[in-house]
Amino acid sequence: YKHTDEVGELYAMFDLMRTEIKYLSEQRTKQEQAQKELITNISHDIKTPITTVKAYIEAILEGMCADKETLMEYMRIMQTHTDKTAQLVEDLLLHALQELGQISVEPREVYSGPTFEAMLGSFGHAVRLKGLTYETPESVPNVLIRMDTTRLEQVLANLISNALKHTHRGDTIRVHTELRADQFIVTITDTGQGIRAQDMPFVFERYFRGQSSPVSRHVQEGTGLGLSICKNIVEAHGGRISFSSKEGQGTSFQFSLPVC
Ligand code: ADP
Repeated sequence: YKHTDEVGELYAMFDLMRTEIKYLSEQRTKQEQAQKELITNISHDIKTPITTVKAYIEAILEGMCADKETLMEYMRIMQTHTDKTAQLVEDLLLHALQELGQISVEPREVYSGPTFEAMLGSFGHAVRLKGLTYETPESVPNVLIRMDTTRLEQVLANLISNALKHTHRGDTIRVHTELRADQFIVTITDTGQGIRAQDMPFVFERYFRGQSSPVSRHVQEGTGLGLSICKNIVEAHGGRISFSSKEGQGTSFQFSLPVC
């Protein structure tokens, strides 16, 4: 009896191992697939704005823009495209560093009030340019926080640019800041398209890109890296990041930072 029991146990163990190996190789295939898609998308995302900007420069050099107004319009289009490319390159660079385990966070003690007021103010132009209402706190709670302001600015830039991507003209982006126990909490809420329930478990995963945004129905913008970078940075500060969303109604991302 004992003998058959042991054989049975061995079989059960083999079965478990087989399932585990199958799971691991599936995960690997998925990751490889995602990386391939990422490269295709990145080359598209980089080539498109460069081609566009080149075409506008050529048009200007060939004297095809007769008046100042047209020239300004061309400039604005070029600015949008270069901004997008810069953001993409920034994301990729951070991602590469992250892969190498070298995403460095160099925190120092700063006062949250003036720091966040300045950082949040810097996004106003981009938000209003898209025809959205931007609501920021009149005064941000002022406490000492150990943080790397450059990295935190990247977190805010990612969250706000996501909100921009997934909203329509006339929507609102609202930023709220508060102190709760020993945590400084920032919440960024948009009244945009929301996140589909089936996408929710994956948004913080690397390379994950959900439903396409209303502004770019054909080609997905972004790399699917933004939120995983945000999570990394917030957690490196000892904080947490989470979200809540309702399809068709909007999304709210929240992160916390421990107060000194
Ligand atoms: P990317 O923006 O490059 O696709 P992210 O990691 O920043 O990658 O976001 C992952 C996915 O989460 C997005 O593709 C999108 O589907 C969803 N998402 C993130 N922020 C929002 C938002 N504010 N509203 C709706 N969907 C969002």
